[in-house]
Amino acid sequence: MTEEVQKLVNKGVMLPLMEEFYTIQGEGYHKGTAAYFIRVGGCDVGCHWCDVKESWNAELHPPTPIGKIVENAAKYSKTIVITGGEPLTWNMNPLTEMLKAQGMQIHIETSGAYKLTGTWDWVCLSPKKMKLPTEEVYKVASELKVIVFNKDDFRFAEEQAAKVNKDCILYLQPEWSKREKMSPLIVDYVMQNPQWKVSLQTHKYLNIP
Ligand code: SF4
Repeated sequence: MTEEVQKLVNKGVMLPLMEEFYTIQGEGYHKGTAAYFIRVGGCDVGCHWCDVKESWNAELHPPTPIGKIVENAAKYSKTIVITGGEPLTWNMNPLTEMLKAQGMQIHIETSGAYKLTGTWDWVCLSPKKMKLPTEEVYKVASELKVIVFNKDDFRFAEEQAAKVNKDCILYLQPEWSKREKMSPLIVDYVMQNPQWKVSLQTHKYLNIP
């Protein structure tokens, strides 16, 4: 990457684009909704069960002008999901301003580990033990989605739920490789603690991206 391109990436007017695709949001509150996904490369949170490890190294993904990303998205949907990687690795202000100017509804999926940038209609906060969210993200989270890999994640989920705003919707989602073991535990937990809801990765059951 040239120094010039690096400067543009640092400003958020170019972003390392891993992939973009039109599909159905499979998880959380907006599951079942058609949406255009923009997957931005770069993440150093380091979840050992991460299902997009190819996203971690931003240098593997081409720096792409945000105008091009918005142009592509506009062909497909008014609902946009920015995901990663960890999108907040980058300055999201320029991209979200441009998407908003097109009248789009913009959602983010984030671990919340970095400074909050961008203007969002929906913030899906999926906190990770290795790098906890910043205080500002807890305040704006629309949904809290805790991935349950083992039993300790129930404790972690309650710890995180105590930090989010009162309107935030609470979800427990089995980590995909542990779904057979953890799903029954999640069902029991939600029945005993109905402030929580179950989230499943329905796109994986539907075999869509
Ligand atoms: S925060 Fe997301 S992208 Fe980053 S390692 Fe964890 S699951 Fe993977």
